[in-house]
Amino acid sequence: MGTNEQLVEFCKEHQITCLTNQPMKEYTSFEIGGDAKVMVKPSSIVQIQQVLRFCNTAGVTPLIIGNGSDLLVCDEGIARPVIQVGGAFSGIRIENGDQLVCEAGVTLAKACTFAWEHSLTGMEFAYGIPGNVGGAVYMNAGAYGGEMKDIVACVTHVTMAGEVETICGDACNFGYRHSAYTDNGCCIAEVRFQLSVGDATEIRAKMDDLMNRRVTKQPLEFPSGGSTFKRPVGDYASALIDRCGLKGRRVGGAMVSEKHAGFLINYDHATCADVLALVKVVQDEVKEKTGFELECEIKHITG
Ligand SMILES: Cc1cc2nc3c(=O)[nH]c(=O)nc-3n(C[C@H](O)[C@H](O)[C@H](O)COP(=O)(O)OP(=O)(O)OC[C@H]3O[C@@H](n4cnc5c(N)ncnc54)[C@H](O)[C@@H]3O)c2cc1C
Repeated sequence: MGTNEQLVEFCKEHQITCLTNQPMKEYTSFEIGGDAKVMVKPSSIVQIQQVLRFCNTAGVTPLIIGNGSDLLVCDEGIARPVIQVGGAFSGIRIENGDQLVCEAGVTLAKACTFAWEHSLTGMEFAYGIPGNVGGAVYMNAGAYGGEMKDIVACVTHVTMAGEVETICGDACNFGYRHSAYTDNGCCIAEVRFQLSVGDATEIRAKMDDLMNRRVTKQPLEFPSGGSTFKRPVGDYASALIDRCGLKGRRVGGAMVSEKHAGFLINYDHATCADVLALVKVVQDEVKEKTGFELECEIKHITG
C-alpha cells in the first residue's frame, strides 16, 4: 500500500475527513490545477497533529492550504497529501478588550467585520484580501500601507512532529510576503491579533473605501491569484508591465489584465502552463525594456 492509501486508511480509523482526487481548480481562486490525490480536512488541532505526525513518520511533506487565493497549481495535480485548514477552523473571539483571536480558517473578511462590530481598529487594510487568517500570516499579506506584521501578536501552530507551539513578536520573522512559516513547514492553527479600540463608524468607512478601491481597480470578475509579481525595489510591477505595453497580452487562456497590469488572469480556461508561459513573457519583456527583474508572488505548486 502506498503512503496516500495508508493515509486514507489512517484518516478513516481516526474519523478525519479525507477525500480523494479533488480538482484543485475548485480550491483555488485561479480556478486552475489538476487533482489532489488525497485531500485531508482536519476539524481540530488534535486532528492536525495526527495528520502531521503521520506525514512526518512517512517522510512526506504535505501541502497545507487555506483559501487557495495565492496558489497556481500545476496541471498534473498534486501527488503528496494536501491538508486544507478551512471552515472547520472558524472560531473567533475577543480577549482582553482589544485582542482578536481567530482560528486559522477564519476569512479575513469575517475577521475584519468582527473587529469592526467590536469597534477594534488596525485590521481594515486586510478587508478585501480574499484569504484565510492562516494563509495571510504565512504570506504576511498586506495592502494599502498595512501588513499582518503590524497586528499579529502571537501565532499558535502545529509542528511537523505534531507538537503545538505558540510564537510571538520577532519569532514570527515577518518580511515582505514572508514569515517564519515560509521556512518552517508548521501548520498555523490560531492567530492572536493586537488591535486598538476605535470608532466603529470610522472603521467601517475605511473598510468600505478600501473595498471600493479594489472593485474599481482590480479585475475581480476574472479568476486570478491577485497580484502576480512582488513589488520590485524602486518601482511597481503593474506600472512596469503597463509601460512595456503588455496589458491584454495572452498566452492560451491566460491574459495580462486590461484593468490592472499586475494581475495575470484566467481569462478563458487557462492551464497552469499558459500562466507560466505568460509569466515568462512578462518577466523577459520587463527585464529587456526596463532592467527590472520581476519575481512571482503567487505560489507555484508542483506535485
Ligand atoms: C483578487 C485577489 C486580491 C488579492 N489581494 C491581495 C492583497 O491586497 N495583498 C496580499 O498580500 N495578497 C493578496 N492576494 C493574495 C492572497 O489573497 C493572500 O496571499 C492571502 O493571504 C492568501 O491566503 P489563503 O488562505 O488563500 O492562502 P493559500 O493561497 O491557501 O496559501 C498561501 C500560502 O500559505 C500557506 N498556508 C495557507 N494556510 C496555512 C496554514 N494554516 N498553515 C501554514 N501554511 C498555510 C500555503 O501553503 C501557501 O504557501 C489577493 C488574491 C486575490 C485572488
